[in-house]
Amino acid sequence: MTRLLLIGPPGAGKGTQAARLSERLGIPAISTGDIFRENLRAGTELGLLAKSFMDRGEYVPDTVTNDLIADRLTAADADSGFLLDGYPRTTEQVRTLDEFLADHGHSLDAVVQLTADEDETVSRLLKRARDQGRSDDTEAVIRHRLELYAQQTEPLIDVYADRGLVVRVDGLGSMDDVTERIVAVLSERGIRQAA
Ligand code: AMP
Repeated sequence: MTRLLLIGPPGAGKGTQAARLSERLGIPAISTGDIFRENLRAGTELGLLAKSFMDRGEYVPDTVTNDLIADRLTAADADSGFLLDGYPRTTEQVRTLDEFLADHGHSLDAVVQLTADEDETVSRLLKRARDQGRSDDTEAVIRHRLELYAQQTEPLIDVYADRGLVVRVDGLGSMDDVTERIVAVLSERGIRQAA
């Protein structure tokens, strides 16, 4: 039973690595951004609400995001562990996740911090904008998302570092190299691949 978080700036490659780690470790990757986008495609009220924030590069309000994740983490497949990608992003979300885990008698095993420098992340995001047409990948919105990350999310790394949970991984390089780096540092902490 492995419970992990993946934290890093927009464009660091979290989504790609989350999918690969999910497969390697045999746990579901849960991305709040993906859930918001799925809801938007399905035309739900949640999707429309989320879009109004996402398009401006703002965070969806904590109450909405926290309810969503509490619901998702009680699904059967998350019982045996999970990898959270893009959650928590605020101190209030950390508090909610702490409470949820404590209520279920669970705890986190590690927090993977994926690093990447700003020029690299901006150019990756602009490329993704061209390839995938995501409405929150325009340059102005990207800059704002990076600012918000620095202000609200980066400080969470210290919170988890104080708990001895953070493993730092360089997110630059090929996707395969980065995956191998993450698998190696997790393995050093006794977190092993699924059989
Ligand atoms: P992502 O796919 O992780 O880059 O997320 C895309 C957008 O979804 C973000 O820019 C936010 O608007 C919203 N979002 C995703 N996760 C969260 C979260 N944990 N808290 C608030 N907003 C979020």
